[in-house]
Amino acid sequence: MDCIFCKIINGDIPSHKIYEDDLVLAFLDINPETNGHTLIIPKKHFKDLNEIEENELNHILKVAKELSLKIKESLKCDGFTLIQNNGFVQDVKHFHLHIVPKYINEQENLELNEIKKRLNN
Ligand code: 5GP
Ligand code: ZN
Repeated sequence: MDCIFCKIINGDIPSHKIYEDDLVLAFLDINPETNGHTLIIPKKHFKDLNEIEENELNHILKVAKELSLKIKESLKCDGFTLIQNNGFVQDVKHFHLHIVPKYINEQENLELNEIKKRLNN
């Protein structure tokens, strides 16, 4: 299937991975809204919120809870927003949950490599 996120899971397209287990993968968004903008995806291809199975959905939320803490500690963000797009507002048709860190003060844009380094420390 011609799905960019399936290609990332298969390793055909590189990504800045920050978390992986049997069910899900989390990596940095290539066009981040803020430093630490992260996507969490199921390894199995589900198009959207309607298609995803509850087991995967629940697990993604659990991982989001853990990763948001890690992001807050490592990047010192002041808040964060979870976003999950469906239908015409969804560009990539493989379910994904965005974690978008929010900062009170404007931040300089860091390289994804640098963000990954901070998150993995
Ligand atoms: P949505 O489908 O919710 O509108 O957003 C898709 C998100 O995926 C966008 O924020 C976009 O920057 C990100 N994205 C699209 N293609 C790639 C890619 O190849 N690698 C990574 N890391 N992110 C991507
Ligand atoms: Zn896919």
